[in-house]
Amino acid sequence: MISEVDFPLVKIGPASMLKTLVVGAGLSGLMIALGLQDSRDVAVVDKARGVGGRLATRRTDNAKFDHGAQFYKLKPPLREMHERWLERQLVKLWFTENQEQHFYAVGGMTTLTKDLAQDTSVIVNERAVGLERKNQKWVVTFDSARIEKVDEVIFTCPIPQTLEIFKMSSLAYPAQLSEVVYSKALVLLIEDSPTPFRFQAHGYVEPQNSSIFSVADQQEKGVSEVNAITVTLNAEASDQHFDSPDEDVIRQATGELQKLYPNFEPGITQLKKWRYCQVQKSFGELFAQVSDGLYLAGDGFGGASLNGAARSADALSKHLAHLNAHPQFIDVITKGKKKWPTPLS
Ligand SMILES: Cc1cc2nc3c(=O)[nH]c(=O)nc-3n(C[C@H](O)[C@H](O)[C@H](O)COP(=O)(O)OP(=O)(O)OC[C@H]3O[C@@H](n4cnc5c(N)ncnc54)[C@H](O)[C@@H]3O)c2cc1C
Repeated sequence: MISEVDFPLVKIGPASMLKTLVVGAGLSGLMIALGLQDSRDVAVVDKARGVGGRLATRRTDNAKFDHGAQFYKLKPPLREMHERWLERQLVKLWFTENQEQHFYAVGGMTTLTKDLAQDTSVIVNERAVGLERKNQKWVVTFDSARIEKVDEVIFTCPIPQTLEIFKMSSLAYPAQLSEVVYSKALVLLIEDSPTPFRFQAHGYVEPQNSSIFSVADQQEKGVSEVNAITVTLNAEASDQHFDSPDEDVIRQATGELQKLYPNFEPGITQLKKWRYCQVQKSFGELFAQVSDGLYLAGDGFGGASLNGAARSADALSKHLAHLNAHPQFIDVITKGKKKWPTPLS
């Protein structure tokens, strides 16, 4: 039975405040929520058990692994967040290469989004499955039978996941959104190696001419107290073996690793699969407005990195804050020129 829940997480703002639901509590969703909270009643939902999305950290009995993003490069889109994390002692410089500083999160990359989530209303374990326009509101349905009625919805999921919801809801969208492409990633988490092994001075290496894209030593980085290695296969190998049995992928990948590093002895190994890893062909604009009060943002728009996610989040937050400050502009967008004159799929 479908039950109706009346946006319980959101603080009660002035009656005139727009209610905004952000779908996806990855970096972009949380940054958007923070950017909008002065002007809107905003909440974030995520289908996962916790926040972070592709900023993912897994703990086993002894070890800790970042198994999504390993680091961020300090570029302008992330500077403000970086200052915040630095002040809270959440991040440290890992290494500098080609004059670019690479920062990591001391407690694992997911702690960065946990930090942002402290200042926002977030609900986890809720998967958005449907969307409908009714009486000037967006009605969002969840697989738990939860329903939210809001003025604005902002999707920050990998774009194909958002489009699945649009399709299930028979909602038209610009055909260009279907052209955005992400690589897949197969990621090995290796712990308890019998003999400690040093891959490189700082513990991060991208081997040349190999199906292995990167090797990240979590102990050397400072995330794990015991030996823990994250090995990411390149896009081609990940795509080729994505549906192969885990044991086959692990056997082949550890074989390849030992060819590169004959003295490395893999210990207990698990496999993590990312269907949407890094955007290879992005949308070309920093966010998309699909309809009145319906937006998409995230790294599919800003580019394949934390900086890309932040760039998109920042652009959409500023755009919406501007609309708030100049409501007459909303009329131009919603009644006047259509942002998407192209055929809808
Ligand atoms: C293996 C790997 C290695 C990487 N390495 C790096 C790196 O070293 N440096 C770097 O800068 N970048 C790296 N990246 C890329 C970086 O992690 C991403 O670009 C960035 O985290 C994307 O953030 P986002 O908020 O746009 O999307 P996401 O983090 O994907 O957030 C989207 C959220 O939406 C949620 N969601 C999806 N569907 C639904 C639904 N129906 N209902 C509710 N919630 C939903 C998801 O659970 C997820 O939490 C890597 C990515 C991967 C996978």
